Amino acid sequence: MALLTERISLERHTGAEHQGLREDGTRHVLPDLAYKRLFVVNVAFFGNPEGYESWVLIDAGVPGTLVNLKEAASRRFGGRAPSAIVLTHAHPDHVGCLAGLSELWQVPIYAHPLEHAFLRGEATYPSPDPSAGGGLLSRASLARDWRPLEDNGLLQALPEDGSVPFMPGWRWLHTPGHSAGHISLWRESDRTLYSGDAILTTSQRSAYAVTTGDLELSGPPRALTENWSQAVQSVAKLAALQPELILSSHGRAVRGEAMRQGLARLVATFRGD
Ligand SMILES: [Zn+2]
Ligand SMILES: [Zn+2]
Repeated sequence: MALLTERISLERHTGAEHQGLREDGTRHVLPDLAYKRLFVVNVAFFGNPEGYESWVLIDAGVPGTLVNLKEAASRRFGGRAPSAIVLTHAHPDHVGCLAGLSELWQVPIYAHPLEHAFLRGEATYPSPDPSAGGGLLSRASLARDWRPLEDNGLLQALPEDGSVPFMPGWRWLHTPGHSAGHISLWRESDRTLYSGDAILTTSQRSAYAVTTGDLELSGPPRALTENWSQAVQSVAKLAALQPELILSSHGRAVRGEAMRQGLARLVATFRGD
């Protein structure tokens, strides 16, 4: 198969781990989990490309990256549409291609109900706090190119029982603070955490960060975070899970004991106002 013959280069990575980097820039972290950085944000692909039955896209990239995103998905899953799109939250850098993908794929989109009004364009997030320093991106510049979802019935609430549709073994966890309806995804069996923007694996100037060697962990970007004390609680909630691997929306996948120690230090020193 094409996927098997693709050259896979290995890259030195945090915690002496290695990650397969495919030629199209998709990073393979587990047999059923890969991610691709689009400009400044990651999107993730859940599903095993070898013998898969279905796959799920996690988040939908920065506006203007639709072609890159579609190409990466198509390389991995042979052009098949995913079974669903799951969103960590609705900031423009996470849902930039959502309207286009929705029209293309016509699949359910799952997000916390508190994010739905933003996805439909019925509400806008508070403006970033300029006193909190620069965030990841100028949201205004992203929002200009962003299109809300049409009312086509595809947007749905995540199931109340905590399950994640088409992602067996995963749970969604409400991790508010960065945004009211922010969620993270957790798989207990191998302790894999998709933290979205609740914990970042790159240090941000505007957020508290732990940096040791090439390991960087931080809370969400300060300027773009709605409720700092909730964000602090969400970091503690995720750290308490004792993850083995964290994939965040900004930064690289990190894993192992050094990461857990960094997480403990982050929790110990990360405070609300
Ligand atoms: Zn965000
Ligand atoms: Zn983000």
